[in-house]
Amino acid sequence: MTSQNPVFIPGPTNMPEALRKACDMPTIDHRSPVFAGIFQPAVAGVREVLRMREGEVIIFPSSGTGGWEAAVANTLSPGDTVLAARFGMFSHRWIDLCRRHGLNVQVIETPWGQGAPIAQIEAALKADRGHQIKAVLATHNETATGVRSDIAGIRRAMDAAGHPAMLFVDGVSSIASMPFEMGAWGVDIAVTGSQKGFMLPAGLAIVGVSPKALAAMETAQLPRTFFDFADMRRSYATGGYPYTPAVGLLNGLATSVRMLLDEGLENVFARHHRIAEGVRRAVAAWGLRPFAASPDLYSETVTAVTVPEGCNGTDLVQLAASKYDVAFGVGLGEVAGKVFRIGHLGQMTDVMALAGLATVEMCMADLGWPVRLGAGVAAAQDYYRNTHGEAARAAA
Ligand SMILES: *Cc1c(COP(=O)(O)O)cnc(C)c1O
Repeated sequence: MTSQNPVFIPGPTNMPEALRKACDMPTIDHRSPVFAGIFQPAVAGVREVLRMREGEVIIFPSSGTGGWEAAVANTLSPGDTVLAARFGMFSHRWIDLCRRHGLNVQVIETPWGQGAPIAQIEAALKADRGHQIKAVLATHNETATGVRSDIAGIRRAMDAAGHPAMLFVDGVSSIASMPFEMGAWGVDIAVTGSQKGFMLPAGLAIVGVSPKALAAMETAQLPRTFFDFADMRRSYATGGYPYTPAVGLLNGLATSVRMLLDEGLENVFARHHRIAEGVRRAVAAWGLRPFAASPDLYSETVTAVTVPEGCNGTDLVQLAASKYDVAFGVGLGEVAGKVFRIGHLGQMTDVMALAGLATVEMCMADLGWPVRLGAGVAAAQDYYRNTHGEAARAAA
């Protein structure tokens, strides 16, 4: 069966029709001025979405993981120390990537379900009197656990410690959906991809780079070729790329940033909060809880739902796919089976979210989990009905 059901995985996300069409382009010569007409508005829009004050936007034909690699390969040397907390699969993978690049990763082990441990980060930086730590790595939204960390708080901790390390942030599942302030938070490298908040197919690694990170390239010794910021900047100066760009995706990105900025970023964030809150009301009505340890940590883009005792979240995800043709996210790593995840970012409406919640209830009933059909849907309906148009009113 080929269904057109929406997906409820936390990326890739559902694509608005306008973006699918924007990606579908005839071949053009990427060394012609036509390309600059696509590329430059995309870059300018990303700069606004990231709320950059200075620095450079660099876009690779890659995915978020390539953005992680570009961040470290351009700014660090073998043996350099970086500080990172591990509290989910995505923070873990960035740590692993750094180790494979010969970096010395000082890991703060943090229980999954918690966010970045700011006091411990500050203590580690204060203890590093010789300033061996060259960068602090932070996963803004840990997609595996549905936890949002306080990046402004990390910046304050770094400043309180008087530490000169750079701040690198994985914003793959937060940027363009949740407030992100590259300039105000003093982020040196922000990493995202095309397939989450930007609502496009996978295929672009989107990286914001501060002047401080650009300066670090002068002495950074890690090898880089495909992901070389310097090659990219030299080609930008002539309106192009050092190799063949993903033109259709970039045209999609130019359209995506225009859509986001036309809606207004504050409205985009309010819309995500509202959809997420409805999902959380449903989870509470099921008698279940988000895996995130406390409400201040709740992600607005993905909810990892802790399953009832004796139940397996992966069973629900598999049944939803096989019986109803609807995709949810499984638990990854340490939380495999213990959670299932509902992605609610990008192109997601009240009606779509309600359909996803109704599907979860059908699966829970099919599996014999304790559920009263309609309980979660009703809680979300109440919330959506009574908050409809709130964001629009606030903006008016
Ligand atoms: C999706 C995701 C990634 C990985 O991105 P890919 O595009 O799959 O390489 C990295 N970090 C976070 C937080 C993510 O959600």
